[in-house]
Amino acid sequence: MISQLAVKSRVVGLWVSSLFIFCSCDSNGYKATGNGGDIGTVQRVDSGRSGNGDAGLQDAGANAANDMSCLRVRPALRPTGRVLRMPEQRVGIDGFEEPHWRRISDAILEDPEALFVATYHRETDRYVIRSGPIDSRHELILKRGQVNAGAQPILVESGRIGDVFPNVNPMVLGDYEQLLQSFVNPNEIALQDLGYAADDRRVGFLPRALEVYPYPLLRIMTLFDSDDAPDLVYGVRPYASGVAGVHGGLDLLQSRATLILSGPGFKSSAVLDSDATLVDIAPTVLAAFDAPTTGGQGPWASYADGLYLTWQDGRVLSEALDESTCARPDHLFLILFDGLLATEINRQLLSDVPDVDLPHLRRLAQGGVVYRHGAISGFPSYSAPGHVTVGTGLWPGHHGVLSNQFYGRDEQRAITPFDLLDNLPYFIQNPSEALTLYDRLVTPEAENLAQAMHRAFGEYDQETRTGAYVAVINELTFKGADFTTLGFFGGGGVQKKLFEYRAADAIAMTQIEVLLEDRQVPVPKFLQMSLLATDAAGEDAGPHSPLLRTNLVDIDERIGQIFDLLDARGVLEQTAFVLTSDHGMALQDRTRRATVPARIRAAGVQTSMISGGLIYLKGLALEVMEDGGDFLRLGVSDASTGAPINAAEMVCLSCDRPVQQTSDQNGYGDLIVSPMVDEVVIKASHSRYNSVILRHRRP
Ligand SMILES: [Zn+2]
Repeated sequence: MISQLAVKSRVVGLWVSSLFIFCSCDSNGYKATGNGGDIGTVQRVDSGRSGNGDAGLQDAGANAANDMSCLRVRPALRPTGRVLRMPEQRVGIDGFEEPHWRRISDAILEDPEALFVATYHRETDRYVIRSGPIDSRHELILKRGQVNAGAQPILVESGRIGDVFPNVNPMVLGDYEQLLQSFVNPNEIALQDLGYAADDRRVGFLPRALEVYPYPLLRIMTLFDSDDAPDLVYGVRPYASGVAGVHGGLDLLQSRATLILSGPGFKSSAVLDSDATLVDIAPTVLAAFDAPTTGGQGPWASYADGLYLTWQDGRVLSEALDESTCARPDHLFLILFDGLLATEINRQLLSDVPDVDLPHLRRLAQGGVVYRHGAISGFPSYSAPGHVTVGTGLWPGHHGVLSNQFYGRDEQRAITPFDLLDNLPYFIQNPSEALTLYDRLVTPEAENLAQAMHRAFGEYDQETRTGAYVAVINELTFKGADFTTLGFFGGGGVQKKLFEYRAADAIAMTQIEVLLEDRQVPVPKFLQMSLLATDAAGEDAGPHSPLLRTNLVDIDERIGQIFDLLDARGVLEQTAFVLTSDHGMALQDRTRRATVPARIRAAGVQTSMISGGLIYLKGLALEVMEDGGDFLRLGVSDASTGAPINAAEMVCLSCDRPVQQTSDQNGYGDLIVSPMVDEVVIKASHSRYNSVILRHRRP
C-alpha cells in the first residue's frame, strides 16, 4: 500500500512548500493533510501540518481567515523544476567507503544512548538512516523524487520512519507545567550545586516514549546539500551528551527556539499553536515590511517566484501578521537570545504565576504573538548554524555554516565560524579578512537580511537619507549592513580594553546605545543583534535553572534600555520586535552519557574530523589512470579532497603472486599485472587512511 503523507506541507499566501512522503508504512506522527499543493491559488492550511491530533490549533490567530491582502505583491508560485545548484560530489560515502560506513555505524549504535546514524550515498543518490542495536536494527533508505509543483517528495524506499523516529510532532509539550509533569529522573540525580532544590521537578528528562525529533528527514537530508557536508552524521538521546545544559541534537527541546513577534505589522495578544521553524523568520521580517518579492531559489533547489529572499527555505508566518489594519513597522528589531528555550520564556511571559518578573518582555508578549511551541532550529542545533539560519532563512546545509566546527574540504582543516567574534581585535585591524571569512562561511547564493533589505528598499545614502539603514550587531550575517560590530570597533570610539574586559552583551548594548543616540544617522529600519549570556546560563545550569532566570531579569532590563532609547528618538511605537533564539536547550543526565567518539576510534576507522555529530571519513580514492595491458597506472588520492596521496601501498589481490607498488608524490604508481585476466582486484592502503579495494574490469 502506498500512502501519501505530508511531513511539512504549507500553502501560505505567496508560495508553496510541500514535502511529501511516499512510504509503504503507516508511521506514527505523520498524517495526510490532503493538501496537494494547488499552484496559483491562495489558500491556507493551518500551520502546514494539520491533522496531528495533538496540535489543537485552537487559538484565534491560527484559524483566522487570512488572504494576505495587505501585501504588495502576490504572485503565484511558478516553479520550473530547474535545479539551480547541486552540492559537489565529495560528501557522504561511495561504494569504496560502504564497508567503513557499516563498521562505524555498528560501533556507534552499540552505544545504548545513541539514537541514529545517517549518511548520503552519492553513487546511488540515496540517504540511509540506521538506528537500534544490532539485534533490532532498523534501516531507512530514502531518496528525493522529482521536483513537482514546488515540492520535492521524499521517497521511502525501505524501512519505516516510525521505527527510527517514533515521535516527530513538534506541537507537543508546549506548556511548562505539562513538560515538568512528563519528566522522569531514573537515576535520581540531584543538582543542588546548581541551585536546584532537593527533588526539584525541573531536574528531569523526558521518558523515551515522549522523546520527539521534529522534521528529522528534512533536517538531516538538507545537511548533506553543503559542499562541506560530513560523510556521516549521528545523534544521541536528548539527555546523553553533557553534564548540565546542552544543545546540538535533533530532539525537540534542544531544537526549540523562542519566537515572539510584536508591534506594528503583527497581531496582538495571540498565543499561536502554529508550527514554525527558524528558516521562517527572515521571510517574515521582510513580509512585515511589505518588501517586494523576487524570483529565486525556493526550497529543494527549484526555481520559484514570489520569494522574499533570493534563496528562501522558509515560509512567511502569515498567521502572525496583522492584516486587519495593514499597519507596517517603520523599524524592526530582530533580537536573538542565544540558547533560550521557548518553553522557559513562554512560562515567564504567559503564566499567571511567573517565577521572575519580566515587565518589558511581558509587554512585548502581550502586544504581540507568542509561538507556544517556539521555532524549530536546523540540525545540528548549534549556535553558528542557528544564527546564520535566522539571518538568511536557509537551513544549515544551504547557507553553509554547518556547525560551530566543521571540516573545510578545500582547506582540509577545521572551520570555526565564531572566530569572527572571538578574534574581534584581529578582524578590526584586518576588516577585509572578516569579509573573506564571511564569504568562505556563507554560500554565495545565500542572501542575508541586510542584503535583502537593501535590495528591497535601496542602499542607505547618507546625503539624502534615503534607502534602508541596517545595523547588525554581534551577528555572523553582517555582510552588507551599514552599521556592524566590526565597523563600530573600527570607528575608534571605544578602547580595545572594553572588548577585553566586558562581556559581549554589554558591548552589544553599548553599540546599540551609541547607534541610537547618534542623531547623525537614522534609527535603523532594520536592526539585528544577539545577546549571548542566556546560552552560557543554560549550558552551565540548565534551561529552567535559577541561573538562567537571573539572566532573564538582565535581558529584560536590556530590552527596557532599548525601549528608552527608541522612546527618546520618538519611534518606539513605530518599532516592531522579533525575539528568537538560535536553538533550544535540554538538561543532561550525567549518569547516562553517550561515548560515541571513543567507540568510533575503537572501531579503527580513520577520520579527518569528528565534531558535534558530524563525521568526516579519511578515505582513499583509487583510480586506474591507464590500462597498459601488462601494467596498470594507478592514481591514489584523498577521497574527501582529491589531493594526491604519496606513499600509499597498492597491492594486487587477484594476482597469482602478490605484486606491490608504492605511490609517488603525485599519487601515481604502476602495477605489473598479467594481461590475460579479465578482472584485477587492487587494494590501496595508507597508515592514516581507510583502505580501499578496487575491482578493475579489463577493456
Ligand atoms: Zn547558541
